[in-house]
Amino acid sequence: MTNPRITLNDGHTIPQLGFGVWQVPPPEAERVVDEALQVGYRHIDTAQMYQNESGVGRAVAASGLPRADVFITTKVNNNAHRPADAAESIKRSLDELGTDYIDLLLIHWPLPTQYGGDFVSTWEALIAAREAGQVRSIGVSNFQPAHLEALHRTGVTPAVNQIEVHPHFSNEAARAANATQGTVTEVWSPLGQGSVLTDPAIAAIAERLGRTAAQVIIRWHLQRGDVVFPKTVTRARMEENADVFGFQLSAEDIVAIDALDKGEAGRIGPNPDVFDWIPS
Ligand code: NAD
Repeated sequence: MTNPRITLNDGHTIPQLGFGVWQVPPPEAERVVDEALQVGYRHIDTAQMYQNESGVGRAVAASGLPRADVFITTKVNNNAHRPADAAESIKRSLDELGTDYIDLLLIHWPLPTQYGGDFVSTWEALIAAREAGQVRSIGVSNFQPAHLEALHRTGVTPAVNQIEVHPHFSNEAARAANATQGTVTEVWSPLGQGSVLTDPAIAAIAERLGRTAAQVIIRWHLQRGDVVFPKTVTRARMEENADVFGFQLSAEDIVAIDALDKGEAGRIGPNPDVFDWIPS
């Protein structure tokens, strides 16, 4: 598969198509990631919260691939925002992943109503981890434009902001804020957790092109320039979702899919302005 690499604002590059492992049960993670690597994925998106970093790490080690050939993202959990906790959690992630560096580390959620609304000191812990060489690139997830603005005083702009985006929720305000400051948008739940696959407009485009609905949606994300990592535990779907570099959507198809946006009503996940869940 020919998977373009996108250059981040710190000079590192990231494969535009990756593989997400949220809700992959920890005992299954090694098998699932092993298969994804066999299919050709070279970018895995995990998180401390997913509790499957060790399976990801074991699969990468067992693959025999050079470490530099696999791009690994993980995320600081919501219960590790205090700088000392964040630093500790980064060490644990390195351990679980069995690696001496993380390609991309994110703050998972801003939690504006927890920790006195202070996610800036958490960001400073990520900056320190990058300076210590534990992490190559640092970014955020679920940051609204106002949250991004609060980071400006640190002088370090996130390399990426990972946010919910799919045809029913195109999240344009957050995408535009990212673009304005040179932060790459990574999209989560790119298929709307499967819910967008049955949209008749997507189905019609897929049928005309002789492609599947998932392939059409992934192509829409790619042609908009975002980084995308659909999740599946089924090998046939891993192959299907990776087979997206042999066709193009026309400008008209892109516009037609853009028109499926339902605004806030299309959001599936929590709203980052109020989400304040901390795992025990
Ligand atoms: P997704 O949009 O990738 O949808 C996954 C679901 O779609 C699968 O469970 C499966 O049911 C279905 N599916 C996948 N491929 C298919 C195919 N070819 N045909 C038919 N059905 C198919 O949902 P997601 O897992 O929520 O998002 C992807 C990744 O984004 C996650 O695994 C995770 O890495 C990341 N994510 C991050 C956050 C965050 O807060 N940062 C939140 C959610 C997800």
